[in-house]
Amino acid sequence: MRRFSPPTRLLGAILIAGPQLAYGASELRFAPATLLPLLLAVLLIGWMLGRSSARRGNAILPAAMKSDQRLMWALWGSGDSFWIWEVDEDLLSWASADSMLGFRNQESIKGADWRHRVIHRDDRDRVNAAMDSHLSGGAEQYEVEYRLRDAAGQWNWVRARGRVVARDGAGKATLVAGTFRVIERERAQDAQRRISAEVIRHMLEGVSIVDLDFHFVSANPAFLRLTGYTAEELTGQSADLLNSARHPAAFFDEVRQELITRGHWSGEMWQRRRSGDEFLAWLQIAEVLSPEGSRSNFVAVLADVTDRKRAEQRLRYLAHFDQLTSLPNRAFLRQRLRQRIDSGGSRRFALMFMDLDRFKHVNDSLGHAAGDELLRQAARRLAHVVGNQENVARLGGDEFTVIATGDTSNEGVERLAGEILDAFAGPLLVGGQELAISPSIGIAYYPDHGRNMDELLRHADAAMYDAKARGRNTYRVYSARMAEDATERTRLEAALRKALDRDEIRLVYQPKLSLRSGRITGVEALLRWNSVDLGHVPPSRFIPLAEETGLILPLGEWALRQALSQARAWADAGMPQLRIAVNVSAVQLTRGGYSELVKMVLDGHGLAPGWLEIELTESALMADPKRTGATVAELREIGVRVAIDDFGTGYSSLSYLRGLAIDTVKIDKSFVDGIEHNVDDEVLTSTIVLMAHSLGLSVVAEGVETERQLTFLRGENCDEIQGYWLARPLEAEACRQFVSAYKMPKGLVLPGA
Ligand code: C2E
Ligand code: MG
Ligand code: MG
Repeated sequence: MRRFSPPTRLLGAILIAGPQLAYGASELRFAPATLLPLLLAVLLIGWMLGRSSARRGNAILPAAMKSDQRLMWALWGSGDSFWIWEVDEDLLSWASADSMLGFRNQESIKGADWRHRVIHRDDRDRVNAAMDSHLSGGAEQYEVEYRLRDAAGQWNWVRARGRVVARDGAGKATLVAGTFRVIERERAQDAQRRISAEVIRHMLEGVSIVDLDFHFVSANPAFLRLTGYTAEELTGQSADLLNSARHPAAFFDEVRQELITRGHWSGEMWQRRRSGDEFLAWLQIAEVLSPEGSRSNFVAVLADVTDRKRAEQRLRYLAHFDQLTSLPNRAFLRQRLRQRIDSGGSRRFALMFMDLDRFKHVNDSLGHAAGDELLRQAARRLAHVVGNQENVARLGGDEFTVIATGDTSNEGVERLAGEILDAFAGPLLVGGQELAISPSIGIAYYPDHGRNMDELLRHADAAMYDAKARGRNTYRVYSARMAEDATERTRLEAALRKALDRDEIRLVYQPKLSLRSGRITGVEALLRWNSVDLGHVPPSRFIPLAEETGLILPLGEWALRQALSQARAWADAGMPQLRIAVNVSAVQLTRGGYSELVKMVLDGHGLAPGWLEIELTESALMADPKRTGATVAELREIGVRVAIDDFGTGYSSLSYLRGLAIDTVKIDKSFVDGIEHNVDDEVLTSTIVLMAHSLGLSVVAEGVETERQLTFLRGENCDEIQGYWLARPLEAEACRQFVSAYKMPKGLVLPGA
């Protein structure tokens, strides 16, 4: 069977089938070739006479024919053949009118087997039944279609009709006669129509026929299903019945006008169901021509594309929105930027580039689910501050952008940046844990900092890196220098990768003084990098980079090994015991295995764990409190001391520290700087000392540069100080000499020390 692919191919089939095709209705009727029984009777008798005289060798048939040539012509014109069956002899004879001159293929078969020879096996029962029915008076006429074998042995479909033309005295039929014609073509066409009708009946697309006034004539089941009407309700109704108010009336008028003038229309159209619901239909409407070629109807094929439309919209959404956060994505951002730049001329706006500090660690240590949750929450906060969600985008990873379009003055934009930072001041609750996360924001203005999209993006990105380099949790506005910085950063990273191998890295040691004993109690090991390519690079530049790139792992391990090997060397040189403090980054702690490494290195040098102190910042702790907390506990278990570095700059929760097993709090240099200048800093410093003591923690003040700061701190009961006032970070040998020679100035020695 031929396959139709609806709807277009099928439309063709429907057009072939023509408007008579009524779905669900019974068969089509064709004008039958009408043969007058009279004609038959006359011909038959003439022919029989001819046949009997032919047996006698007398050719009287042509004469008989001549006498009724008109009838002969009529038979010939009809294309039919005729037959007679002499019942008693069971003799069948037939002939075709071949030309005006006579008959051709006169043949006859006798005996029971003629049916077997010429009637197809599968049709025989039907033929017999039809004949029996007629003979017994059940059917007025014998009419049956069957396959007849021709002289060449080919089967042809024929339609045979006939009647009893003579009966004996008892009323039994003795002679039956009739016509038959080959109906191969008709059968094929009929089959085609039947298939079309069947396909239409089962099509998922709705098909309906309307008349030239656009009133429904018929519809297939799918059409009825789609519209919710029954065939009875629909038939005769105007197609307006389905009009949706979503289109103006003029739209429907246009469609009709188009149909009237051009004969076809296709497009999307909202349609209203019987229930009042509306659906979006894809409609193809075409005229139906009558056999004479004039337009008789329109046929409409209708598919519900509401879902497809929705899928398209969904696709468009997926292409332009980030699935994780539902924020616009990079493609959307680019589109918006392009629109703004193209349409706005030189109208100023700002592009902010935002990145979550240390997000990578959370993701690595807490797992992707937690990382995803964090991003979702961060996105929500950001969108909330910015207000217009369309102006926020997530570019991927922890990178977000904001297009600032409202108040685009420097003050306005920077105020917004400040509000974003504020929004992240409180921790995010992820998987039942509080995570402190801070953004770094870079700002670039259009057109000042970039006349095209890529330049603007690049420069906002460079400004963001600058913000990161400046200790994070801050925003920076782009300046030309930053572009160089971006290139610089690439160079820096390349150089840093080689630094350890090239022996460019070393440690310096900064002493700490106990304000109780007046003695040097320990030193902090600090990394120094003297690059062959770049010269001296301060830790503030390469440590964040090392953390971002993961280079901090080998670097940190090197620092640990180096510091402890130095401690061993000093001990061997007979120096009094000094606690050595090593800084660690969050990445090192969350990676796992850190405490094992520490233990191994300590053991390797035969050092007691109490000789080592680990300094980690609040933000490093908060990046992943659970894991860092666990590592900290392991270190404490071993006997290693733990200090919180830069205290006061981050989350600053002493009560949180209570839950953690730590020993020391290092008050950040920024508060120490404020001593004697800023009452707030003084209050904060004394509060930290008080609270730390109440928790049983010792307090170290960092960055002490003046004697007055020292005096204040001593007055507040601070335990230790570190800073330039005492000593700058020193080379190992210089440090040894300093420590050995150190004597606290007389006037500063504590009473009782
Ligand atoms: P930090 O751990 O808070 O180290 C103290 C920083 O303050 C050191 O800077 C030190 O030189 C500086 N400093 C100390 N006293 C004074 C003072 O009186 N005045 C001033 N202006 N500065 C003072 P440095 O060595 O540049 O280190 C900066 C930061 O780099 C360190 O801050 C630490 O966070 C990080 N760092 C250094 N070495 C390492 C390391 O081995 N591993 C890790 N993860 N971080 C390190
Ligand atoms: Mg430190
Ligand atoms: Mg510090």
